[in-house]
Amino acid sequence: MVVTHTLDGLLPADVLARQDPELAEILLGELDRQSTTLQLIAAENFTSPAVLAALGSPLANKYAEGYPGARHHGGCELVDVAERLAVERAKVLFGAEHANVQSHSGSSAVLAAYAALLRPGDTVLALGLPHGGHLTHGSPANFSGRWFDFVGYGVDPESGLIDYEQVRSLARTHRPKAIVCGSISYPRHIDYAAFRAVADEVGAYLIADAAHPIGLVAGGAAPSPVPYADVVCATTHKVLRGPRGGMLLCGTELAERVDRAVFPFTQGGAQMHTIAAKAVAFGEAATPAFTAYAHQVVANAQALAAGLTAEGLAVTTGGTDTHLLTFDPAPLGVDGRSARGRLAAAGLVLDTCALPHPDVRGLRLGTAAVTTQGMGEVEMARIAVLFAAVLRDVHAARRVREEVRDLAGRFPPYPG
Ligand SMILES: *Cc1c(COP(=O)(O)O)cnc(C)c1O
Repeated sequence: MVVTHTLDGLLPADVLARQDPELAEILLGELDRQSTTLQLIAAENFTSPAVLAALGSPLANKYAEGYPGARHHGGCELVDVAERLAVERAKVLFGAEHANVQSHSGSSAVLAAYAALLRPGDTVLALGLPHGGHLTHGSPANFSGRWFDFVGYGVDPESGLIDYEQVRSLARTHRPKAIVCGSISYPRHIDYAAFRAVADEVGAYLIADAAHPIGLVAGGAAPSPVPYADVVCATTHKVLRGPRGGMLLCGTELAERVDRAVFPFTQGGAQMHTIAAKAVAFGEAATPAFTAYAHQVVANAQALAAGLTAEGLAVTTGGTDTHLLTFDPAPLGVDGRSARGRLAAAGLVLDTCALPHPDVRGLRLGTAAVTTQGMGEVEMARIAVLFAAVLRDVHAARRVREEVRDLAGRFPPYPG
């Protein structure tokens, strides 16, 4: 390939700053916010500059409906190579027979999985939303709850753990067409073999929505759903640290149905700049450095859980196997909703979430982003202390804000 153009001068932010200072100011302000506060939202991370470069590349201009070698548009020769590369890297990384990397988001990946396997009106068994299910697992506000008949299983109110016996008995009673495992806030490994056994017993498909743990799976720090699930849906932007987007993994026999469920059933043109960025992220995730990262993410979450426990907070399930943990701040005299605002004022950015007691709103935090910044267990222990200080005393926020700025400043996400 003869390359006559360079990217020099095309991509830098100062191009934007010169042409559109109003927008550039927003971008730089956001970079400043991300660099001076702590991103503890369990679904967030910092992509590498290489991923950002692919996202901001001329591939954003290309229309490419269809799949490599069978597009509805001309001029797809090079983007075909990029998509094949992304697919190959995903297959190797996850040991999957087939990968579809076109889903625009995690939710579109779930929509495609349902489209591939179900008909409207089918019964689906999934973790109930009050227990940590995602919107796409049967929320009445979402297509899933409108088009399918969802039955929810739960977590044990005392232990916070999935009750696999309940899953089995609900499956035997309702005979679902598919069972979904996966959550937005479950801090423990999921027993995919147990779900597979239940699915086999009642003749259901098993869909693993691994949007959260898929990055840990890539780094060998969590069990893989790939050998057990008929279809695995995932995001590429959470622990996996790629661009915002989704993907699907499955065996050869479902490959065509899954591909057709993405395009043309639920999507149009593929976003080739995002697919290229996914390829970059899969490449990064295949390195020993990423394996070390994934294990450090878990070690950090466990250190944070231990720190919060030492402060008198009850972490759900007593700890975590993953990058995320949840807790009820009530023992320190504040409810989840007001706690989130108070912590944000101190520069500690996180979400509220459902807890095993569905009437209580808790807090959910994750360590993917701070670990990318290079923080370790020492910093996590300190963050736990800062958390408790803000929760105990609203007036501590200002002092903690300064310490957070200082801490974040020592671990810049994009060292210049
Ligand atoms: C994040 C998430 C999704 C959706 O991903 P989006 O990219 O926000 O659409 C779906 N399912 C689960 C379990 C998730 O955690």
